[in-house]
Amino acid sequence: MNWEPVIGLEIHVQLLTHSKIFSGASTAFGADANTQACAVDVALPGVLPVMNEQAARMAVKFGLAVDAKINRRSVFARKNYFYPDLPKGYQISQYELPIVGEGNLIIDTDDGQKRIGITRAHLEEDAGKSLHEDYHGMTGIDLNRAGTPLIEIVSEPDMRSAKEAVTYLKKMHTLVRYLDICDGNMQEGSFRCDANVSVRPVGQQELGTRTELKNINSFRFVERAIEYEIERQIDILEDGGSVVQETRLYDPDKGETRPMRTKEEAHDYRYFPDPDLPPLELDDDFVEATRQTLPELPNAKQTRFMSQYGLSREDSSQLTAAKELAEYFEAAAGATKGDVKTVSNWIIGDLSGYLNKEHREIAESPVGARQLALLIDRIHDNTISGKIAKEVFDAMWHGEGDADDIINDKGLKQITDTSAIETVIDEVLTRSALQIEQYKSGQNKVFGYFVGQVMKATKGKANPQQVNQILQRKLDA
Ligand code: ADP
Ligand code: MG
Repeated sequence: MNWEPVIGLEIHVQLLTHSKIFSGASTAFGADANTQACAVDVALPGVLPVMNEQAARMAVKFGLAVDAKINRRSVFARKNYFYPDLPKGYQISQYELPIVGEGNLIIDTDDGQKRIGITRAHLEEDAGKSLHEDYHGMTGIDLNRAGTPLIEIVSEPDMRSAKEAVTYLKKMHTLVRYLDICDGNMQEGSFRCDANVSVRPVGQQELGTRTELKNINSFRFVERAIEYEIERQIDILEDGGSVVQETRLYDPDKGETRPMRTKEEAHDYRYFPDPDLPPLELDDDFVEATRQTLPELPNAKQTRFMSQYGLSREDSSQLTAAKELAEYFEAAAGATKGDVKTVSNWIIGDLSGYLNKEHREIAESPVGARQLALLIDRIHDNTISGKIAKEVFDAMWHGEGDADDIINDKGLKQITDTSAIETVIDEVLTRSALQIEQYKSGQNKVFGYFVGQVMKATKGKANPQQVNQILQRKLDA
């Protein structure tokens, strides 16, 4: 039987507010345990929550960016469960009336663009953290994270492969950083996702029984966890069994998922409106003022890069994956006399490669946009070849100066003097009688050998086009 995977994601996005959603305590990451949890966060008796306006503004900003319905009236609800890192015994969330209603996000897939439905996005508070390492036989509790504002973005079950799910997740990651509502740090848990996975026979309308995968804190793991889970479910069904609806934990070391708990139903949480918080009411001015703060969104920027610079959809997508990267590209493209496609290739290729290798963000690149533009100018005006440019770039990366300094200091200027190139070619030809023989007898491949020898003799500095032309002329003479 052919099986179709069905995936829906719930993404938790920590909002970049300075203080918590219902208290004035700081949200900064990395403080000593329990130093940033005030009376409200640790749930001392008699305290009252006060809604953080900035958190509401960020949620609305998100809703507008995904073309969603903004609910002018939303309600906070208590989600009751017991866990040591949840001192109140309930989490303040939104249930029946979330701040953001239905919206959508367009992603690029192998079969073109696809619209992924967004069911809702609601405001809620984060819980504290349970620490298991370093506490042998015991659990440590750090409440610094308790009360950090989150939006939980719930998608429709619209994705059909692990790859599609990751594409959606990455696009969402890009979007929240463009909006400046989240730092996107997955290591620190600022952006995390649960994946709901089921499979069904191709052609069947009804959804299969799903499992929910937790604890996946990188794009790579999300893809692997979902792939593993799809295979696991297909195996069960093909053996005549049935999938149990449950929450499963992904184990990155073993590359597998395992049961954590049976899936709770909404009624298990005994949701009810929080009596300490009035409904959140937004007026038109608030929504319109927030709309004014929207930047150019990733999809719009991508489309603009395609039309304005003539770049492919794929290249534009990569260049607009982060706002800072897009800005870097536009700065370099504006500063160079070389062509835009070369700029794009350098950024997507060499520059990104160097950044990835050293785990750096574009803002931490030792080679700035203007410096890259100067390097590309030198390729454009034939001072150096594209190949030598890589050597120059490496030196720039390691702080050896600008392109011109390095080209001069290392004597990397391209040889364009025809007679100089001719002299080298003649030398090569005199000691290559055998290869000339082969070439004349029709083995065209040998041409590459001559080019290689000339390049070797000039340490890669001979202008490649001239070498080709002159060689061609002399060999065919
Ligand atoms: P819960 O309240 O238990 O988390 P929801 O109905 O809110 O459940 O759905 C949570 C997520 O699970 C959503 O992203 C939704 O698209 C997805 N989902 C629901 N049913 C399925 C299914 N059968 N297969 C895959 N994903 C599903
Ligand atoms: Mg859920």
